[in-house]
Amino acid sequence: MKPIVQKLIDVLGPESVRSGDAIEPRYLGDWSGRSAVAPLAVVLPRTVSEVSDVLRLCNEAHQSVVPQGGMTGLAGGSIPSGKDVCISMERLVGIEELDRAAATMTVLAGTTLQTVQDAAQAAGFEFALDLGARGSCQIGGNLATNAGGIRVLQSGTAREQVLGLEAVLADGSVLSSMNKMVKNNTGYDLRNLFIGSEGTLGIITRAVLRLKPRRAARSTALCALNDYDGAVALLRALQSTFGDEIGAFEIMWPEFYDFGVSLTRSGQSPLGNAYPLYALIEQAGFSDDHGERFAAALNAQLEAGVVLNAVVAQSQAETQALWAIREATAELPVKLEPINFDVSLPIGEIGHFVDACRRDFRARWPTHHGVYFGHIGDSNLHVTLDARSIPGVTVEEVDRALYGMVRDYKGSISAEHGIGLLKRSFLGYSRSPAELACMRAIKHALDPRGILNPGKVLPAADNQEGI
Ligand SMILES: Cc1cc2nc3c(=O)[nH]c(=O)nc-3n(C[C@H](O)[C@H](O)[C@H](O)COP(=O)(O)OP(=O)(O)OC[C@H]3O[C@@H](n4cnc5c(N)ncnc54)[C@H](O)[C@@H]3O)c2cc1C
Repeated sequence: MKPIVQKLIDVLGPESVRSGDAIEPRYLGDWSGRSAVAPLAVVLPRTVSEVSDVLRLCNEAHQSVVPQGGMTGLAGGSIPSGKDVCISMERLVGIEELDRAAATMTVLAGTTLQTVQDAAQAAGFEFALDLGARGSCQIGGNLATNAGGIRVLQSGTAREQVLGLEAVLADGSVLSSMNKMVKNNTGYDLRNLFIGSEGTLGIITRAVLRLKPRRAARSTALCALNDYDGAVALLRALQSTFGDEIGAFEIMWPEFYDFGVSLTRSGQSPLGNAYPLYALIEQAGFSDDHGERFAAALNAQLEAGVVLNAVVAQSQAETQALWAIREATAELPVKLEPINFDVSLPIGEIGHFVDACRRDFRARWPTHHGVYFGHIGDSNLHVTLDARSIPGVTVEEVDRALYGMVRDYKGSISAEHGIGLLKRSFLGYSRSPAELACMRAIKHALDPRGILNPGKVLPAADNQEGI
């Protein structure tokens, strides 16, 4: 046994340190599908002070560590190498306080998103962040990746749901910025350094989350559309009537929609015929008549010819059935051999970009099968290619083709999933050399020995595409 593992056992006790065959497979890999190897050890701290002890010992021993949340990430950020010690946050759980006056909830980082959502609901509030992995992903992981999800249009990304944060730095010191105030302009915003840093600058241990007033009810509609420009026109028309009551505006191109429908219980499209484009829209208001107003607005868009057909869910079961089509994303790794992309583009360009991808991929790989969907109100497009449809083509070839197009469109290679392992060598497609140098300087200042999640986010200096 390596001396560092024995030291960790001495401090945490044998029950909180796993090594060798005692490491369960769930600590080896996330949802990115990257092949997984067993780490040197997995530690399961129960308190912030234990997280601090682990980091102090590892820093002294120049031992690399990989923070692990719910392991639902799609960029490989929590995947260890055989030399790493994984720090699983799954035991650092609990809601410490719900402050009604401040409308905040203080939680430990290992608490799942679903637990936070349910507690907020029970107290008459709402926690705005929502995504398909809600039952497994943790608040710490959500913040470390600055997760987006389906309500960004209404409430912003994970970053906007946080007022205060506590993180343990590489040397074990605890940096507490557990601010509860909305306004606090006292120098650098340290909390935001850790949000989106994917475990490379510190381990998030606590957060003060913002709660929102609970909306009276939600209306959900599935609309058929002519084309992408019509989708943007519909989004803007609905927003001009309802403002931030439009909570979700999910666009599905037919390849994805058909996949989603094929997995539903009936296997039939709720809209009957096939259409060029589909929008799943959620409106959540505060007044009792908001559902009628939403239906009337959609009717007006039907009469204007922007919407070709629509169904509005009449019950919770119908709402769930409509969302099941969009949440078929969870089945992509089961039914396909997915090569996933999560990119950002200027909203007006997304339709052209999808057309360009189809053209480019058809020319390169005539047999390819791809699906397209996204939160277009947040400028976010997801593309998945089925590797089985392009035998002999490497993931790197597909990455280079797609990210090259993203660069040409002045987009971003990661909208919400982060950089992790999968995209690090393409970071230079979306960030300038000056920005990368600044990121390296911050990393060096906070983690001079480079023990925190090494090899994630920042590319090695000799492995930078396009720089
Ligand atoms: C079905 C499904 C749907 C999804 N939908 C969305 C979506 O709509 N929008 C979206 O943005 N993402 C989505 N995701 C991706 C994923 O759920 C999010 O990225 C989530 O925020 C990751 O949380 P996690 O706890 O699982 O983190 P992990 O996967 O365990 O870790 C992710 C990264 O954060 C780091 N990390 C984890 N915990 C901490 C901590 N406490 N301190 C510091 N670093 C930490 C890890 O080292 C790693 O780099 C989806 C995933 C699935 C499987």
